[in-house]
Amino acid sequence: MAAYVPTEREQAFRDTIENPKYEREIINGLKPFFDDKAPDAIKGFYSKNELAALLALKGTDRDVENRMPVKMTRHFYELAQHSIPMQQLVKANPDETLNLAGSEDPGHQMDFAPVEGLLHKYEMGLLYAVSTCSAHCRFCYREELISQKEVERQDGTVAKKGLAKIPEVTDYIKAHNKIVAANGGRHPDTGREKLREVLLSGGDPMALPNRKIGAWMAALAEAGVESIRLGTKEMSFHPKRFDAAFLAMMDNFHAAYPDIGFRLMIHFNHPDEFLLKGDDGEYQQNPNGSLMWHPDTKEAIEGVTSRGWINVENQAPIIKGINDDADALRVMQRALYRAGVNNHYFFCGRDIVAYRHFNVPIETVWNLLNESQKGLSGVEAHARLSITHYKGKTEVAAVTSEPIPGVPGTENGVLIFKILRNALDAPDRGKTCIVGRNPDAIWFDDYEDRVIYDEAGLFDYARVDKKTVEIEAAAELAASA
Ligand code: SF4
Repeated sequence: MAAYVPTEREQAFRDTIENPKYEREIINGLKPFFDDKAPDAIKGFYSKNELAALLALKGTDRDVENRMPVKMTRHFYELAQHSIPMQQLVKANPDETLNLAGSEDPGHQMDFAPVEGLLHKYEMGLLYAVSTCSAHCRFCYREELISQKEVERQDGTVAKKGLAKIPEVTDYIKAHNKIVAANGGRHPDTGREKLREVLLSGGDPMALPNRKIGAWMAALAEAGVESIRLGTKEMSFHPKRFDAAFLAMMDNFHAAYPDIGFRLMIHFNHPDEFLLKGDDGEYQQNPNGSLMWHPDTKEAIEGVTSRGWINVENQAPIIKGINDDADALRVMQRALYRAGVNNHYFFCGRDIVAYRHFNVPIETVWNLLNESQKGLSGVEAHARLSITHYKGKTEVAAVTSEPIPGVPGTENGVLIFKILRNALDAPDRGKTCIVGRNPDAIWFDDYEDRVIYDEAGLFDYARVDKKTVEIEAAAELAASA
């Protein structure tokens, strides 16, 4: 493939980018703890017993670091000293590998990859821009990307997931959109619309230097994308990353590309990640009764929310032992909304390898979120509960407790799934699936024997034909050449 040549406008923007280095004081792996070489301030993060249990698994097929590399930042550690949920978020646990059931490619993501590192779903593209983050959440559903595991593709080949590259991705977007435009707004074969929005993801794009983030943003803007999202947990891991140099880059980008929308998709699981606690363990209050933020996180959030063209949205999974707590979720939704952050999605866990260690039963999650939203104002309680089916994003819309008279299988009530977005076909939105309740269910499989009504086709799902995706991608590139 020919080298990528930026346009004049793109190059002029790229030339303005400052590229400072960030001192996150990252602790990588368990070795510094095993060897008693972790910095003094962090040494006590694991107890002797915890370290002995983890060391005993080293090199075995239950080695937790093989499943997911261990990593944390100094900022996160300091807050986690006063927070068990935060510790659980990054702390390796021998129980993670007790049951390794689960998928190496949750959501069958690779079925939707027309070029390496790009997933094309709905009207959106998702890019694997980087394969690491400043710290690693133990429950991450991209563990196969972060730990660089080989993943079996649908065509039977086995390879690590590759990262996206600007020339391939922009060529694909331009080719797809050209065909859609020539066909009156829909792709003649797939029915999909313009690829108008791209999510920079990974890993965490904020782990990249500004010049790489900026290069992606400008290239996507030049390729005709209307809106860019960036998914990040850096507000929690190292909020100082959202510094003057980053904000100046964003301002310069907006000046060069004023029509491009930008959404910062942040990821807080628990309010302990940004609120200050007193010695009594309670959140500290401002004089007006609102809760006090950590000053670094407050500055970072204000930096982005003060730019009216940047929308900031929080989304997070509900994970066992971390945020399966209605009171914490209520505090978080309220504090975030007050700071100008929208509550977008909460997610049920995915069927990643070792998901049994992390996932909370689906019906419990629905109840937790519902409880947490009691007492919130309408605008604070916007978040929905989503579970990502292979077919697309699905809402857990309702869980009932009463039987439906005359309908077998509803004796304990029902759960209603609703398709939010079918990965391939927009018109499926709103279709529902009703199943009899199973309070222990942590994944769709656990409802297989109790489907009552399924216009959404969640339980009658055939995987996307990978070869078709590849042939379409090749045809699109050829047609645009
Ligand atoms: S920040 Fe996101 S991508 Fe990174 S480890 Fe956590 S969940 Fe995974």
